[in-house]
Amino acid sequence: MKVPLPRRLQSRLAFKQTVSFALLVIVLAWSAYAFLVRHVYDQLDDELQDRGIAVRSMLQVRNNDVRWLNKEADPEVREQFERSVRFYQLVDDQGRSLEGSREMAALQLPWTATARETLTTGRYGWEIFELPTGARLRVLDASVIGLQQRRYVMRIGILMTDADDALSRMKLVLLAVIPLMLLAHALNSWFVAKRELRMVEEITAAARKITPLDLTARFPVSGSGDELDELSHTLNGNLGRLQISFQRMSEFLRNLSHEIRQPLTVMRAEAEQALRVRGSDEGYREMLSKQLEHVELLARTVSDLMEMAQSDDEEVKLHCQSEDLSEMVQAAIDGMRLKSGEMNIQISGTVQRSITGQFDPGQMWRLILNLLDNAIKYNHPNGRVDVVLSAHQDTAMLTVSDTGHGISAEEQQKIFERGYRATSIRKSVSGTGLGLHFARTIARAHGGDIEVSSSPGRGSTFRVTLPLINDAEMPELPAAKSRENTVN
Ligand code: ADP
Repeated sequence: MKVPLPRRLQSRLAFKQTVSFALLVIVLAWSAYAFLVRHVYDQLDDELQDRGIAVRSMLQVRNNDVRWLNKEADPEVREQFERSVRFYQLVDDQGRSLEGSREMAALQLPWTATARETLTTGRYGWEIFELPTGARLRVLDASVIGLQQRRYVMRIGILMTDADDALSRMKLVLLAVIPLMLLAHALNSWFVAKRELRMVEEITAAARKITPLDLTARFPVSGSGDELDELSHTLNGNLGRLQISFQRMSEFLRNLSHEIRQPLTVMRAEAEQALRVRGSDEGYREMLSKQLEHVELLARTVSDLMEMAQSDDEEVKLHCQSEDLSEMVQAAIDGMRLKSGEMNIQISGTVQRSITGQFDPGQMWRLILNLLDNAIKYNHPNGRVDVVLSAHQDTAMLTVSDTGHGISAEEQQKIFERGYRATSIRKSVSGTGLGLHFARTIARAHGGDIEVSSSPGRGSTFRVTLPLINDAEMPELPAAKSRENTVN
């Protein structure tokens, strides 16, 4: 059967403590009481044995004839003796009383099996009789041997009234004190539990203040260093990290909406303008090609977003085929000339020819373009971008160096994180903070890696290493997991 427990932890703790304390107290009280009863009975029995010896010393037992040794000497002595030993009796082997005190004779005790056993075995027998007055009489049966080895039973009694009174007083005291003790203990446990759980209440109150829109609240720490403090510290650490990623996420969404809105506004304005002014075919063509550029930009942003949404498990799926990396890098450099020219940035390429390997062309194109785009975007006007592609043994190395504003050591640790953008350029240069994250994921998926070295104010160099695998030795490239640590 399941015992229904109080719902509140405080009451439950107090209840459980009180129940175990009650069990302990009851067992202790019961043992103490049993010990006391034993002690009182032992004292009574010792007293009875002493009285038995005294009575025996007064009687001379012959053949069914008992004589008081000092009967003739002093009848008063017997009187006095009977006053101190109120209950005694000598019984023959048929259960007939031969001699005894008046009080004992008046009780007419039955000839019991215990008495008969004492007669036959000679051992002491102990009995208790309920008297008509309600009192109890403790009786010792002792064997007495007379002439011709004839056996008799001497029965000595003592009233148990005093002992019973003492025991029932003790019982009453225990019955009165135990509930009071339990009550006091229950109250104490309740207050102790309340005091100890105050911290839990404070933690609950703090937790209620935390919402997805407000992660600034923190769990209280008492400073005692106990388990609750540990819990608060751990939760506060988690909250801090959550707050940072929420901030990044909302910043990312802000950037993203800006990125999407900007080309859309331009496209809309251009379309409206073209519709208002009836232009030549050449004019429409120019407008459409401009719109195509914006659509491309939008498509890249959207595909970044899609990639991010799909890559919750941080994986990139590759479709590798034999590709000429040199051609790809050269095409990317040529493609970027227009953009670098707009910013008056000189772009140069030193591309070793015919470096081929197994690559996913789409993903590789994305990686290279992102590095070149960044090198131009984060450069100063009239700056330089140097691209070098070379192969050493079975590894291709692509370096993209720029003369831009560089990246601080602290930020170098973070730029490969998803959605991270340096604070200094967030407003001035548009972007989503996803490019380098995906560049690193793509490089690692190909079995390579990407690292950065930079001196703030002087420029940065991104170095990509890629293993060159030919058709024959093409292994099953797994979709690589992007790791969280940044390579510097
Ligand atoms: P985005 O360019 O869209 O912001 P990236 O992931 O490509 O995202 O880059 C992450 C951040 O790394 C950028 O916001 C910028 O702060 C920094 N960064 C990347 N490339 C360069 C570079 N060549 N020079 C200086 N900072 C760079």
